[in-house]
Amino acid sequence: MKHNKLITFGLILLLSMAVLAGCGTNSGPLSGSVSTNQKAANEHETVKPMAETFFIFDTVVSVKIYDNRATRQHFNEIEALLNDIDSKISRTLETSEIYQVNANSGKSAVKVSPETFELVDKALDYAKRTDGNFNPAIGNLVTLWNIGHEGAKVPDIHLIEAAKALSDYRLIELNEDTQEIYLQKEGMAIDLGSIGKGYAADAIYDYLEEQGFSSAIIDLGGNIYAMGQKPGGKAWNIGIQDPDKERGNPIGTIQVEDKTIVTSGIYERFFIEDGKLYQHILDPGTGYPVDNGISSVTVVTKHSTDADALSTTLFVLGIEDGLKFIEDTPDTEALFISKEQKLYATSGFKALLNKTNNNYTFAD
Ligand code: AMP
Ligand code: MG
Repeated sequence: MKHNKLITFGLILLLSMAVLAGCGTNSGPLSGSVSTNQKAANEHETVKPMAETFFIFDTVVSVKIYDNRATRQHFNEIEALLNDIDSKISRTLETSEIYQVNANSGKSAVKVSPETFELVDKALDYAKRTDGNFNPAIGNLVTLWNIGHEGAKVPDIHLIEAAKALSDYRLIELNEDTQEIYLQKEGMAIDLGSIGKGYAADAIYDYLEEQGFSSAIIDLGGNIYAMGQKPGGKAWNIGIQDPDKERGNPIGTIQVEDKTIVTSGIYERFFIEDGKLYQHILDPGTGYPVDNGISSVTVVTKHSTDADALSTTLFVLGIEDGLKFIEDTPDTEALFISKEQKLYATSGFKALLNKTNNNYTFAD
């Protein structure tokens, strides 16, 4: 029930974001549809987007290319690219590289592709910078809580403790020379759910750029890349989701050009037990979902891999430490929305935001 509702909500959210991004309507099913008759978002637009949606990484992925040269072949190649990423970094796909790394924990090192190696390396950087609050070794806790999937419930405390004991990121060993990853303790598991969608968004961006495209909306379940400008040379309008609403209502919009916008929110994946909401970002220190008064965190920057890692990082760090952390991160803006409907933003984000919902007010 909850799960279905969540999926429906997610779809509504996606659709509304797409509309706000100026992409017209999207009526395609979850996979394989190409729609070429979208309405231009404003009268200056002469280029209609060519669009397709895919279902991968447990997520609806939508790509809209605003260029008359876009063909079905381009979308086929994007689909192949997404499958290739999944075959490298999925925690659950038995043939994936990360699955092999996890299966060989405490036994042997596993040679992986340069892409997987670099992504784990990047995730480890964030783990070090946050003293393990961002933690790619959190796989066992993620599996145990199973949040966002059927039957999720609060696990037995002993199981939480056992999973916690297997989540020390310092036991992830990377060998640059051999490109091998070794998990030093048997039963450990890497999970890249916090960074993988951003990585995929960057990969699609790079592909589109290589193909000579410069105007597109790449959307992986709310993890957005607004590539270049809208046709006609204007900035994109991207909605910032109201975390309290199920209708895809934004609290406002931001205007961006060639930027990624990534949100981590309590509404994305969650379950409710005994009236309490348990969302999907976990505190590696307690082994429980983070419960720090944050409803969502949105990050705007140039690279989606970083934005994805950062949105999760800032969520775990909390508002005060998160704002300090982001101050030390160049060319990056962030907005925290609290459960009390207060907004905490970097000055750059505040300047970008065209707030339309007056229930939300800035904290300072
Ligand atoms: P995101 O939606 O990008 O914020 O990522 C959330 C996902 O990252 C979860 O569904 C887990 O797969 C994983 N995750 C949960 N807690 C953490 C954490 N503290 N550090 C890193 N990854 C996490
Ligand atoms: Mg993330």
